[in-house]
Amino acid sequence: MSAPPAPHPPFDADHERIRREMRAFIAAELAPNADAWEEARYFPDELFPKVGAAGYFGLKFEPEWGGSAPSFQEGTLRAALWALELARCGSGGLAAGLGAHSEIAAPPIWKFGTDEQKRRWLAPAIRGELRCALGITEPGAGSDVAGLRTRATRVDGGWLVNGEKMFITNGVRFDAMVTAVRTGEGDRHAGISFLVVERGDGVSASPIHKLGWHASDTGMVALQDAFVPEDHLLGQLDQGFALIMANFQWERLQMSLGAVGAMEALLDMTIPFVQTRQVGGRPLVAQQAIRHRLAEAEVTLNASRAMTFDTLGRFAAGHDVLREVTMAKLQTQRAAVDVADVCLQLHGGYGTLEESGLPRALRDARLGPIGGGTDEIMAEILGRTM
Ligand SMILES: Cc1cc2nc3c(=O)[nH]c(=O)nc-3n(C[C@H](O)[C@H](O)[C@H](O)COP(=O)(O)OP(=O)(O)OC[C@H]3O[C@@H](n4cnc5c(N)ncnc54)[C@H](O)[C@@H]3O)c2cc1C
Repeated sequence: MSAPPAPHPPFDADHERIRREMRAFIAAELAPNADAWEEARYFPDELFPKVGAAGYFGLKFEPEWGGSAPSFQEGTLRAALWALELARCGSGGLAAGLGAHSEIAAPPIWKFGTDEQKRRWLAPAIRGELRCALGITEPGAGSDVAGLRTRATRVDGGWLVNGEKMFITNGVRFDAMVTAVRTGEGDRHAGISFLVVERGDGVSASPIHKLGWHASDTGMVALQDAFVPEDHLLGQLDQGFALIMANFQWERLQMSLGAVGAMEALLDMTIPFVQTRQVGGRPLVAQQAIRHRLAEAEVTLNASRAMTFDTLGRFAAGHDVLREVTMAKLQTQRAAVDVADVCLQLHGGYGTLEESGLPRALRDARLGPIGGGTDEIMAEILGRTM
C-alpha cells in the first residue's frame, strides 16, 4: 500500500535502483546497530569514514572534491534518496548526525567557500575524515536568528570568538563547526558572518540529553577567546545572514524528505501487523475502523510526499523554493508525528514496547516541528510572503 508501484517524479527507474542499493547498505551497516547506539546515546566516530568510503557523503558534490554528482540536478536527487532511505536506519538520531554533517554543515563550505577552503574542509568531510557541525542557535537566539550574540573580535591575523552555541548536532565531536558570529557593528541582520571554528583552545562542549534523536550527539558549545584565523571566513564579511537563510532551504527539504521516509517505513511495518494480528478470531484489518485510520495515514503520507517531491524537483532544477520548502516542512513534520502516533496506537500494547521501535519513532518525529525552524516560524515565513 505505501510502496509506490512506479517511481514518483522527479525520480525514475534508475533512481529506484540507487535507492535499493542504499537500502541494502543501511540494512547491513546501520540498522543492526541502531539499538546499541541509541542506548549509548552516541554512534561511533568510525562510522563517518565508513559512510564516506561508501560514497554517501559525496552524492551532491562534484568529483573534484571527492563527490560523485554528475550535475547539480542529479546530485541533489541522489542526496534526496539518501535522506529518504536514512529514515529506515532505525534511529532518527543516527540519521540526524550523518545528515547534519554532509547535508547541513558541509553545504555552506561548498557553496560559499574558496577552492582552498573546499580542499581543506569539504574534501575530508566527504571522505568522513573530518566531522562537521553547523552552529547557528544560541541560548538566547533560536527562532530569532538575527538575535545571535556570539561575538568575533578582530585581532592580529584573525578573530577571537566568544559566545555559546546551543543544540548543536555533532556538537561534541565536530572537528569543524560552520559558525554564525557577529563581526560587524550593526545589530540584527547586519554584521553577521560565517566562520569555520576548528576544535582547539577556547572551544569546549557538553552533551545535551533530549526527548528523541538519542544516538545524535547534540551539544552545547562554549567559545572562550577561541582564535579563528583570517582565512576561516566563509563568504563575505558581515553578509552571513543571507547565507544562513540560503542554507535553510536544503536543510528544510532534507527534513521533509526524512519525514516522508519515516512515514513510509512506519506504514510498511504497520500494514503487515494489522493483517496478521488476530483480535477476537479475526485479523485487525477486518475492522473498518482500523482500515480507515490506515487510509487516512496513507493520505497524509501521500500529501506530504507530493509536496516534498514537487519542491525537490524545483530545487534540483535550480529554482528558489523558499515558499514551497517552508510549506513542505510545515506539512511533513507534524504529519510524521501524527502517523507515528497512529501506527503506535494500532500496535496496541506492543506499540509501547521499546523493541518495537515505535516509541523511538514517535519521540524522534516529535523533534521535527522544532528543529531546523519551528512550525510557528514556518507559518510566519509563509504569512509574511503571501
Ligand atoms: C535535537 C535538536 C538538534 C538541533 N540541531 C541544531 C544544529 O545542528 N544547529 C543549530 O544551529 N541549531 C540546532 N537546533 C536548534 C533549533 O534550530 C532550534 O531549537 C529552533 O530553531 C527553535 O529555537 P529555540 O529552541 O530557541 O526556541 P524559541 O525560538 O525560543 O521558540 C520557543 C517557542 O516560541 C515559538 N516562537 C518563537 N518565535 C515566534 C514567533 N515570532 N511567532 C510565533 N511563535 C514563535 C517557537 O515556535 C517555539 O514554539 C537543534 C534543535 C534540536 C531540538
